[in-house]
Amino acid sequence: MNRQALARRLLDVIENDILPLTKKGVADGNKIFGAAILRKSDLSLVIAETNNETENPLWHGEVHALKRFHEQADRPDPKELIFLSTHEPCSMCLSAITWAGFDNFYYFFTHEDSRDAFAIPHDLKILKEVFRLEPGGYAKTNAFWRSAAIGDLIAVAPEPEKTELKAQDARIRHAYDRLSESYQSGKNDNSIPLN
Ligand SMILES: [Zn+2]
Repeated sequence: MNRQALARRLLDVIENDILPLTKKGVADGNKIFGAAILRKSDLSLVIAETNNETENPLWHGEVHALKRFHEQADRPDPKELIFLSTHEPCSMCLSAITWAGFDNFYYFFTHEDSRDAFAIPHDLKILKEVFRLEPGGYAKTNAFWRSAAIGDLIAVAPEPEKTELKAQDARIRHAYDRLSESYQSGKNDNSIPLN
């Protein structure tokens, strides 16, 4: 599987599988973050999920996906799977992905995007306050996993695929901009501790 085919599939999963769930979740007062798990072998979808913090503040998109994955009786070995997060995982989710046995994850938006574009500064604030880490201060490749931004896959794609991927990237960003406006306008009414 080459990198542009992987980038295309990850963007398709965000657009077609995660975003519809997140639209419903945000309408219920949840944050905009989602996640999915795919098979490495054929990039087929195992599960897609979205943030469900109104039920439990630990149900970030990633942890909620892992919870639902472990509710499946017949599930693949995590080493055979790709973990996808719409937004760079927070410290809890970085650890959750690690404890769940994954050796990789990919994400669309960065921690800085969460802070600057989505007014969710908690990821970077927790890394700084609890771990004394500046933005980008954790090991993106380590003994447990390798992580990568989807944008890095797009950046090295050849033309004309690169232009197509960038158009899809822009379409997804636009969809999240609208969802973020919806979440931010209603968040004072929810009971999420770090909203
Ligand atoms: Zn998280």
